[in-house]
Amino acid sequence: MSRTEAPPLPEPLRVPVADSHTHLDMQDGTVEEGLARAAAVNVTTVVQVGCDVKGSRWAAETAAAHANVHAAVALHPNEAPRIVHGDPDGWSRQGAREGGGTAALHDALAEIDALAALPHVRGVGETGLDHFRTGPEGMAAQEESFRAHIEIAKRHGKALVIHDREAHADVLRILADAGAPERTVFHCYSGDADMARICADAGYFMSFAGNMTFKNAQPLRDALAVAPLELVLVETDAPFLTPAPYRGRPNAPYLIPVTLRAMAAVKGLDEDTLAEAIADNTARAFDY
Ligand SMILES: [Zn+2]
Ligand SMILES: [Zn+2]
Repeated sequence: MSRTEAPPLPEPLRVPVADSHTHLDMQDGTVEEGLARAAAVNVTTVVQVGCDVKGSRWAAETAAAHANVHAAVALHPNEAPRIVHGDPDGWSRQGAREGGGTAALHDALAEIDALAALPHVRGVGETGLDHFRTGPEGMAAQEESFRAHIEIAKRHGKALVIHDREAHADVLRILADAGAPERTVFHCYSGDADMARICADAGYFMSFAGNMTFKNAQPLRDALAVAPLELVLVETDAPFLTPAPYRGRPNAPYLIPVTLRAMAAVKGLDEDTLAEAIADNTARAFDY
């Protein structure tokens, strides 16, 4: 079997759950096909996440067209510095201000703010910090954008969806300093057990992706083990982070059962109990 071939449909879940974070616009096939494959294994709801102005508009439109799709809108932490520095491959090429600069960032944030007001938009994100892809020259723009998204989420009463890559301490510091929204989700949770205790105390949701199944991911499994059941979500972040044994092949929401079953083993729970908790938690996090 080719490494690029889509993995087979897993055994369906008995309890319907949501994929709390996916990128349908980066996956093969139509939205309808992706949703039908997911529904066939009882992944009945997805949160579609935008990473730039164009993707956020698409997320809002897709959520408006499908009852079981909810949208999150944002400038990705790696997108904000691109806008400011006028990267020709970034958002600035699509319009507003060709030269970039903070004025271009403010224009883009105003678009996100307008989208965040829409009823089908249930989250503001993914936003946060990415010290892995963005170097020191982009950090000021990244932090300014993160703080603006926190403010937008609070003003519209939407969930805040955090992207935290190798930036745990700074993300937690800025959240505490700015005041986190009532509902905050760490997407693709990547901290250890100590950080999970901090998140639990703050009431932050922790959403686990396919990488928790990877051989070298024991710290993630340790974090999941201590995360309170009522704060745990599951996601694909598809097309990225395909769970084992399909690592490297295309990911999609229909593969949620693979990750959920690995999570149930870590929690020492039967899969129905975990699925019921996750379904409830996701609806609470995104208020749908
Ligand atoms: Zn992310
Ligand atoms: Zn993502």
